[in-house]
Amino acid sequence: MLDAVFNNYNNDESIDFDFPYFSIDVGCIRDGSMKLSVLGCAGGLGGREKLTTCLQVDDDVLLDAGTGLSSLDLSQLLQIDHVFISHAHIDHVVGLAFMLDSVLGKRQAPVTVHATPGVIATLKAHLFNWKLWPDFSVIPDAEHPILHWSPLSFGSTVVLKERTFLSCEVNHTVEAAAYLVRSKERGFFFSGDMGSTPALWQQLAQEAHCDAVIVDCSFPDTEERIATLSKHFCPRALIEDIQPMPYSTQFLITHLKPGEEENVMRELRAHDGKRLFDSLKKGEIFSF
Ligand SMILES: [Zn+2]
Ligand SMILES: [Zn+2]
Repeated sequence: MLDAVFNNYNNDESIDFDFPYFSIDVGCIRDGSMKLSVLGCAGGLGGREKLTTCLQVDDDVLLDAGTGLSSLDLSQLLQIDHVFISHAHIDHVVGLAFMLDSVLGKRQAPVTVHATPGVIATLKAHLFNWKLWPDFSVIPDAEHPILHWSPLSFGSTVVLKERTFLSCEVNHTVEAAAYLVRSKERGFFFSGDMGSTPALWQQLAQEAHCDAVIVDCSFPDTEERIATLSKHFCPRALIEDIQPMPYSTQFLITHLKPGEEENVMRELRAHDGKRLFDSLKKGEIFSF
């Protein structure tokens, strides 16, 4: 089963990639392709364009909620109904705290936040705990909160208006999910932060509807020790991990540490000139 694959990413045994074996359809029919907008994708501060991870799917869904969320105005924030969180690190969630404050009292339905039970527990205990930030799951009251937590275990899929979001476990310093997002015959894979997860690529290589992979490669090879310690990729380690992936897959590199962007991209292309490597950039819009 898929959850077994992603719960045992250090196990090299091949297991059938069988999904969705569990899904929740809360949407209605929608037409046309799926839009992916890059609101932020930097690995840290360092300039007006260096906003941290936040991707927008169509007008109503976010993947992570880093400082890139500051790119949206209030009317756009009010259209966000669902947020999928990869992990609880602050560069991926800080925008959520501010967004809930901004839309409170201005929309009827709560904002639904999808994440693993472990990530939700961390965010409840350490962010929305009335000390660092209010508990928006009981504001304005417990019956009609602005924040609705929706636990999503590894290997499970949420369906929203014909778009499917499959949670996949990846290796990071904390519990972390990646998402395979598909619409009709097309799709992309998004990982917030991750280090080596060999079984993931073996299974993803079998997926017919994954046109692009968004993955972090935060550090250059000279900082491989730090990359390994913090469970991020450097070019050498990423190329070794993605060996099973077909050469037709586009790799969009994210979470680049400010000042290292050109080094990392040069090293990736030097190591494997046949791969399709591009750095993800704030403001880009893709259609799937
Ligand atoms: Zn990060
Ligand atoms: Zn992280």
